[in-house]
Amino acid sequence: MNVPFVDLKLQYQSIKKQIDTAIENVITETAFIGGKYVNQFEKDFATLYGVKHCISCANGTDSLYIIMKMLGIGKGDEVITVANSWISSSETISQTGATPVFVDIDAEYYSINEKLIEAKITAKTKAIMPVHLQGQMCDIETIKSICDKHQLFLIEDCAQSHLSEYNNIRAGLRGIAASFSFYPGKNLGAYGDAGCIITNDDALAETCRMYARHGALIKHQHQIEGINSRLDGLQAAILSAKLPHLVEWTNKRISNAAYYTKILSGIDEVITPKLRPNTKHTYHLYVIRAKQRDALAKYLKENGIETAIHYPVPLPIMEAYKYLHYTENDFPVSNQYKDEILSLPMFPELTETQMNYVAETIKAFYSK
Ligand SMILES: *Cc1c(COP(=O)(O)O)cnc(C)c1O
Repeated sequence: MNVPFVDLKLQYQSIKKQIDTAIENVITETAFIGGKYVNQFEKDFATLYGVKHCISCANGTDSLYIIMKMLGIGKGDEVITVANSWISSSETISQTGATPVFVDIDAEYYSINEKLIEAKITAKTKAIMPVHLQGQMCDIETIKSICDKHQLFLIEDCAQSHLSEYNNIRAGLRGIAASFSFYPGKNLGAYGDAGCIITNDDALAETCRMYARHGALIKHQHQIEGINSRLDGLQAAILSAKLPHLVEWTNKRISNAAYYTKILSGIDEVITPKLRPNTKHTYHLYVIRAKQRDALAKYLKENGIETAIHYPVPLPIMEAYKYLHYTENDFPVSNQYKDEILSLPMFPELTETQMNYVAETIKAFYSK
């Protein structure tokens, strides 16, 4: 049996008509850049989140960068983020001219350890950017109160947390603005790069929109210099076609995760994901911690099961951040877990038969 890490073809087949029609419409109407499909998706996504503004961008990295840049973050400033994430979370801080300041992860839930944040705040700190990694939200209420107390911007990286919740409030609604990615493998994925910003702040929404479109809200009237970070019409139409299915797909991820946790629970060498109280984990990733992780991953691969590691090297230890002079001992939990974490196949269409096979193969590995 083969169990891919994700299978985007199955999803396409299940909604082929809607997708093909969406693509055909954009091409027939030559609505490639801007225009009605982009406007429609922005409206659809803003409605889903109950926010005033959704600004579509070329990808979820740009959307993080644009938020910070338009908040005036730049040279001499510091932004606090987490040691274990995708590099977008920190490279965008550097792109503004500011310096990323990393915080270790929580030993139970694998996202930023809110208890370590205040010690990293200095006179230069301008914002905190937590990442709701894997689909489970950080302790956003504590982080929000830290931001309020120190008058810092709260910017949420929601690239992995579409529809995730904490105390019944969705990821992306607690801070000044939030960034989403619609990279194909994300819980809501385009067929190419795509991303967006959501915010209720009118002034910030306007400058973000302007900046992402060469600094002009009206053609040829450039109020500032900006960048080209537009969502294209094809991706927008595809995203609008997929959006009505997001709740159902998310629920399937959640029930798949519950099934995995049930069938893996008897294996002593494996630690299954722990749910933070009062959260809705949407399982962009289903991450276990496993003894002899590398040997296990190799064994699974030999038996047709694809896995991945998110992420194998903590950000501050990467070559790119050598200049900050961090050592592995500065992030003991991230450093320990980088050798234990393993992301198992996870997508809505995953079957119980496939999950049973994954669990049996893991059992077989440990009883060798
Ligand atoms: C995917 C991702 C991003 C960036 O998204 P792109 O659309 O690929 O630019 C940012 N942060 C995190 C945590 C991500 O997983």
